[in-house]
Amino acid sequence: MWEAGLVVGSAGNVSRRAGPDHIAITPTSLAYDLMTPDDVTIIEIATGKAVDSSRAASYELPMHLVVYRRRADVAAIVHTHAPFVTTLSILRKPLPPVIDEMMLYFGGRIEVTDYAFTGTEAVGENVVKALGDRTGVIIANHGNVCVGRDLKQALHVAVVMESAARAYVQALAIGEPIALPDDAIAAGRRLFDSRKS
Ligand SMILES: [Zn+2]
Repeated sequence: MWEAGLVVGSAGNVSRRAGPDHIAITPTSLAYDLMTPDDVTIIEIATGKAVDSSRAASYELPMHLVVYRRRADVAAIVHTHAPFVTTLSILRKPLPPVIDEMMLYFGGRIEVTDYAFTGTEAVGENVVKALGDRTGVIIANHGNVCVGRDLKQALHVAVVMESAARAYVQALAIGEPIALPDDAIAAGRRLFDSRKS
């Protein structure tokens, strides 16, 4: 995530389920190039309490916990401040499917959440509401959240979303983006559904 330029410094955070009752989440305020497995924090989903940690969990822990409590199908979360995604987040502009592969990886339009202050459970509530059955959302005036059945998939969604957001923002700068045809959207959605099951 850091190497792909989706975050700078210690921004953003990553988590995954660790057994039925816990998650593993990146610590707060630690640069990714300095992070080791020992710095990762194990948190009980029900209580939000750390069970094994040398460091404090990410500041966005409440958001992660809300998503895991509400979405049994989500096994991993990647949260980034990728520049072009963040540009759309500031404009509160959704990212429509304008490239074929976007339907395949996202399942539909990437919506923008309502605004909530960073670090609160309200961010998580807004994410769950805007996510629907797709794989990512843009968080208003902040960045994005990408989900998957494992970290590799969630990271891939984040990389593809930033690449698509970049193309979309550049297209908006010089013209009027043209939507995909309805049948292409339907065909992409069928591929998305077939990969999910
Ligand atoms: Zn953030």
